[in-house]
Amino acid sequence: MGAKVLILGGGSGGLVAANKLAKALRLDRGSDHEVTLVDRSPYHYFMPSFPWVALGFKEPEEVRRPLKNLEKKGVHVVQGEVKELLLDDKRVRVDDRELPYDFLIVSLGAEVKPDLMPGFEAAHHPWTIEAALKMREAVRRFRGGRIVIGVSGPYYRCPPAPYEVAGQIDFALQARGLRDRTEIVVAHVHSKPLSAMGPAISHVVSEILEGKGVKFEGNFNPTAIDPERRVLKGDDGREVPFDLLIMVPPHKPSAVARCLEPLSPQGFPLVDPKTFRCVRHPEVFAIGDMVNPGIHLPTAGVVAHFQAEFVANQIMAELKGAYIAESFTPVALCIMDFGDDAVLPMCDFTPILDLKGPPSCGVLGRGKVVRLTKMAFEALWFSLYLS
Ligand SMILES: Cc1cc2nc3c(=O)[nH]c(=O)nc-3n(C[C@H](O)[C@H](O)[C@H](O)COP(=O)(O)OP(=O)(O)OC[C@H]3O[C@@H](n4cnc5c(N)ncnc54)[C@H](O)[C@@H]3O)c2cc1C
Repeated sequence: MGAKVLILGGGSGGLVAANKLAKALRLDRGSDHEVTLVDRSPYHYFMPSFPWVALGFKEPEEVRRPLKNLEKKGVHVVQGEVKELLLDDKRVRVDDRELPYDFLIVSLGAEVKPDLMPGFEAAHHPWTIEAALKMREAVRRFRGGRIVIGVSGPYYRCPPAPYEVAGQIDFALQARGLRDRTEIVVAHVHSKPLSAMGPAISHVVSEILEGKGVKFEGNFNPTAIDPERRVLKGDDGREVPFDLLIMVPPHKPSAVARCLEPLSPQGFPLVDPKTFRCVRHPEVFAIGDMVNPGIHLPTAGVVAHFQAEFVANQIMAELKGAYIAESFTPVALCIMDFGDDAVLPMCDFTPILDLKGPPSCGVLGRGKVVRLTKMAFEALWFSLYLS
């Protein structure tokens, strides 16, 4: 009898895992095995393009594809809300149904929780598609003043993205003739731009921001937004005034996955960092943004992607007896688009996983041609995984 593989989440991790398994199990040619993917959304969204939606360069329908497209590859797609993981029974409650599994891949991502920051209603951001469209309106109404780009804390999807947003806004306001009337400030918990990614990357990103006249307010841990006075308040008493606030909302790991114990003090399921299997349920794999900070990997689609391929390979090895394919590539790459410039930083997290030290990071490329690769990558992503 064939195996049932259940994938929770049709974001970066879940989508790649579904594709990999569909191909390896030859699902479109009548396999005994079943692969089912569950997501609350009918669409997969390509989140790196959300700032482009906020700044009018893309429309929502250009940055999403229906998850149902996976059915052409033999994957069952269920649209529904994952309510509970019934791990001892190898079942998952989705709305009012229970779906059984032999192997479970959980890639439910991070939850965006604006309510956790007092006064957040005064802020805009492109971290969800709905918010990106509202931010577009706010930028359209902006006529000059002080734009602050902030982060609510250290845990959020894609650490480099706020700097991209700052660069893209600078570029957009130049085009509208408003840049001379605008001050742009990035307020971040880190001491320097992208300092967690090492000096080489931090230096290049700082140089680009300085060249654009973007100021940096470092070591800034926000506690609240005061919408009346239009200030962002820090835990050390500092206040950052704004006319337009673009703020990454607080993120939390998926609540439904809290049963995947043990948890880190911040609430991330602590999977085995070499296999991404859950400690108490080895037939359950957890990958992507909902686990990575707990094992010192970044919240990046590329990491979820490589994890998804690797866990699919482990399932294939169990089903076939042996399966030789990619090992886990602990590398994060992010094409940073600053509008009229771009950078391709890369970090290798092997030293972290081997408990030998910080990641080894560097800059692979810079310039407008790098920006073109970002556009090409979006098209490649959809054509590989959701065509
Ligand atoms: C503005 C922005 C720019 C970014 N740029 C880059 C970049 O350049 N490079 C890069 O590598 N990464 C980038 N990222 C980060 C990247 O998108 C995420 O790290 C990646 O998508 C994480 O994949 P995941 O599978 O862990 O979670 P997600 O992709 O978030 O997928 C989780 C899925 O689970 C579904 N879900 C959650 N809870 C439930 C539930 N209870 N029931 C049903 N469905 C549920 C969601 O609808 C979602 O589809 C960016 C993110 C943003 C927001």
